Amino acid sequence: MIINVHTHVYPNPQDPQAGEKFLSQMPVSQAVEQWQQRNVDHICVCPGGLLASVDPIDNGNDDVEKLMKDYDGYFIGFGRVCPPKDGPDYVDQLADRGFRGLKLINTPMPYDDESLLPIYERAEARGLVCLFHLGWLGHKPEMAANQDYITRTHNMQPVHLDAIARRFSGLNLIGAHLGGRAYCQQAIDVAGWMPNVYFDLTGGLIRRVPWPMLQMLFGRQKEESLVDDTTVLNERVMAKMIFGSDNATPDVFLTFYKNLLTKFEAPDQLQEQVMGKTLADLLGM
Ligand SMILES: [Zn+2]
Repeated sequence: MIINVHTHVYPNPQDPQAGEKFLSQMPVSQAVEQWQQRNVDHICVCPGGLLASVDPIDNGNDDVEKLMKDYDGYFIGFGRVCPPKDGPDYVDQLADRGFRGLKLINTPMPYDDESLLPIYERAEARGLVCLFHLGWLGHKPEMAANQDYITRTHNMQPVHLDAIARRFSGLNLIGAHLGGRAYCQQAIDVAGWMPNVYFDLTGGLIRRVPWPMLQMLFGRQKEESLVDDTTVLNERVMAKMIFGSDNATPDVFLTFYKNLLTKFEAPDQLQEQVMGKTLADLLGM
């Protein structure tokens, strides 16, 4: 089973008013065809875009809900929550509408801020998985003109998931992009120690770092204290990784995950966990 934990639905970039929305850089229907041809069983989807394009009423979640209905269960909806505008009541509404997870990005406070705890508490009670953007956030100069655009990469670090995971042990958290190049070592520590925190490797940074850095992140000495300094896979850490693509076209991350797992000689069972089994368990599928 293969499940993609991280995609976005967004307007056609050439013609935002045109009918069919986009996903994976192509019209949704075409994207579904391509993902299905590659044996991907389900896709988790959240709204696209940053604050400038977010619907003030429903955060773009209506587009996600439409995909959930139109494609008969192929899409698993993750609803965008925008605090401080949205609180636990909105989390309840999303759960009632059939969303299976929440997406947080670009919050004006760090993810572990006390004001956000009621959101996590409700997500835990409703069995929703939380997907967090982590690390570097794309920037365009025109965003500076938007008075509401209050963000800083500092608010979106893997270490913020640590406090949430300790407080809500029944809540499953997924950090996107492994925190990016700046925070990926934090992410590895959190992944190794917190049983309810997972990561995806999407984005442009992690898949491009040199192989020795990937060995540093996912490897360990075969025997500690340099008794045998051969680098082998740290299976405990790799078992916390989850397949996702974000906005890339289908082959980009299918290739990256496959090559990463193959180069580390990950056992078949571990490969199956990363590509979908772990997420299926988190979603109760
Ligand atoms: Zn994303």
